[in-house]
Amino acid sequence: MKVKEKLANVTKQIDLACQRANRDPKEVKLIAVTKYVSVDRAIEAFKAGVVHLGENRDEGLEEKWQALKDKPTWHFIGSLQSRKVKDIIDKVDYIHSLDRLSLAKEINKRASKPIRCLVQVNISGEESKHGLIPDQLIPFIKDLHEFPNIHVAGLMTMAPYTDDQETIRTCFKGLKQCQLEVQSLQKPYATCEELSMGMSNDFEIAVEEGATMVRIGTALVGEEDEEVGET
Ligand SMILES: *Cc1c(COP(=O)(O)O)cnc(C)c1O
Repeated sequence: MKVKEKLANVTKQIDLACQRANRDPKEVKLIAVTKYVSVDRAIEAFKAGVVHLGENRDEGLEEKWQALKDKPTWHFIGSLQSRKVKDIIDKVDYIHSLDRLSLAKEINKRASKPIRCLVQVNISGEESKHGLIPDQLIPFIKDLHEFPNIHVAGLMTMAPYTDDQETIRTCFKGLKQCQLEVQSLQKPYATCEELSMGMSNDFEIAVEEGATMVRIGTALVGEEDEEVGET
């Protein structure tokens, strides 16, 4: 299926979720996660009107960035090794995976201007997931004051992989709660207006619970092979 058609479906679902939650769809940034797909497919998504693109590996970012340069808004969404920071820092507009002080230190050192970062929080507590546990979040935010090039634009989480909607919803509510706690610190470097949550199988719940960024791969740009033979 063409990105255009998938985009129409996803946009419709976001609009409906916004209606249910009394929210303005303009508050929700749609990020196309292009990690599974080709450079051409990423270009197709951009041309279809998706201005936010997300990658989780530096190689993927590099090849897609070369094709589209700084026309899209670029999001780095994957776990980030400190030694890779220098390769991505001048290409990305947001880093969604800040989860340790050593990484903050490296971003601070390599950046030539403040970088919008989202702190990754492991709300569900699953061991396989990256991110701070909620109890670590406030001390972590306070520690970031020593890094002038880190701006905490928001928080990011991944819900557990489950069919149980209530478990997913509880996770997203937990991230919203964390956001309110960070905002109550009133730190100028941690305005924390963004909530990055929701992927292909749970973005509607995320939008209902206050997501301002949804990161969608499969439902928006996936299934590229269906393109073969089409003109
Ligand atoms: C892959 C990935 C996504 C998108 O996953 P889909 O289920 O294909 O929508 C979103 N966020 C992160 C951090 C990812 O790694």
